[in-house]
Amino acid sequence: MIVMKFGGTSCGSAEALKRVAHVVRRAQADPAAHEVVVVVSALSGVTDMLLGMAEAARTRSRSVDDMLAQLHERHATVCHALGLGAQCEALLEPLDVLREVLPGIWYLRELSPRSKDFVVTHGEVLSSRIVAAFLTAEGVRAHPVTGWDAGIVTDAQYGEAGILEETWTRIPQQLPLATGSVPVVTGFMGQTLAGERTTLGRGGSDYTAAILGRALGASEIQIWTDVNGILSSDPRLVQGTFTLPELTFEEAAELAYFGAKVIHPKTIEPAVHAGIPVRVLNTFEADHPGTVIVRGPRRTIRQVVGMACKKGQVILALDSSRMLAAEGFLARVFAVLERHRVSVDTISTSEVSVCMTVEPKYEPALRSATAELETIAHVEIRPGRAIICCVGQGMRERPGTAGKIFSAVHQADVNVEMISMGSSKINITFVVRDEDANTVMRELHARLIAIPPEPLPG
Ligand code: ADP
Ligand code: ASP
Ligand code: MG
Repeated sequence: MIVMKFGGTSCGSAEALKRVAHVVRRAQADPAAHEVVVVVSALSGVTDMLLGMAEAARTRSRSVDDMLAQLHERHATVCHALGLGAQCEALLEPLDVLREVLPGIWYLRELSPRSKDFVVTHGEVLSSRIVAAFLTAEGVRAHPVTGWDAGIVTDAQYGEAGILEETWTRIPQQLPLATGSVPVVTGFMGQTLAGERTTLGRGGSDYTAAILGRALGASEIQIWTDVNGILSSDPRLVQGTFTLPELTFEEAAELAYFGAKVIHPKTIEPAVHAGIPVRVLNTFEADHPGTVIVRGPRRTIRQVVGMACKKGQVILALDSSRMLAAEGFLARVFAVLERHRVSVDTISTSEVSVCMTVEPKYEPALRSATAELETIAHVEIRPGRAIICCVGQGMRERPGTAGKIFSAVHQADVNVEMISMGSSKINITFVVRDEDANTVMRELHARLIAIPPEPLPG
């Protein structure tokens, strides 16, 4: 059994959805694949549109009727272009719920995280209905299934919900295979035990695919997108990137976490747990082998195989001579951050200073934590920073990677504000100003990645 997930980039237009149908039909005809479970994202742009609509209803900045009409139009255009005109209104029936909910938000001028999740789930609910109807019309019998009907149960952390253990037993019960009809499951969502809809975080449809893959014992999880697999760097920032044919789970997780948007970081976890290979493929170039993410070491590698970049981050720098030989210093710092619910991404320390990075969404919380932190150390908050992450298993085997990286950064004449190396020893991460990030990325890609691979010693 394989799980095939199609992202928003594959579900943007009727043309793209025709490619999707082709890919699914081909997989189904392959005797090695046996069963296929499809996971879909919302049509491209629709998740942002729904979030904007909910917010605009709260602030009463746009007419609810206009927004609903626009959303209807976006989906109806695709239905008609796919030849589903006759079923269009039936397929778009879930819009009726939004016709009730959005005026409620408008009336109350209130949008809780729970209501926001409820609104935003409609993107995938609509796309799964359209995709299932189109597959059926193309001769591949299919039916839409919501994430909650498929058995995904989560905590109540709206916007970024975590999976509960019950999920693993519910999915095999609630998503029967071999029914002769392909389930088209909504990505990115589940429900709490109390039955409230939740979402799994932006880009979360990849995560849904991995959860289903693990629960159903898939032989492969396929992430279909609009590029030929995981590339050596972000193609929008660096020229001359190329497909990485094979990556280890650790390498892919590091790249994803530090901004390789092509795959959701959490995807990796259920797949690793079950040892299921994840393949990243291109809907628009279906014969390209893409990238396979596997366990264990690879044979022919470079020291650095890929790079990712996360801009707009915030540095928190703490300086204190009191830190010298004082036990409990870091514990006090983290206790303050925990009270203000600030989550730290990277950290580096010396005898008298600690430097960490946090996501921009925590900047207000950091500012309100400043007074407390100032009782412990001198505090500096520096927004507008980019984390650059160089990843490669080869770093573990061969010395000198850091030297090469920082001499390339030096060539680019850029100031590095913080450096850290993960305990897995397969990534070197450093922070520069946002405006310097592209130059550094290009320089590093040219010097360390776009070079012929060397076999491992021994
Ligand atoms: P989907 O809608 O299929 O989930 P995403 O937009 O989430 O697609 O991810 C695909 C995009 O990720 C690509 O179009 C590409 O521009 C971007 N991207 C960033 N870094 C990388 C990388 N290292 N490899 C491949 N794509 C990347
Ligand atoms: N539609 C959701 C988003 O845009 C989930 C996904 O596409 O994976 O974040
Ligand atoms: Mg994505």
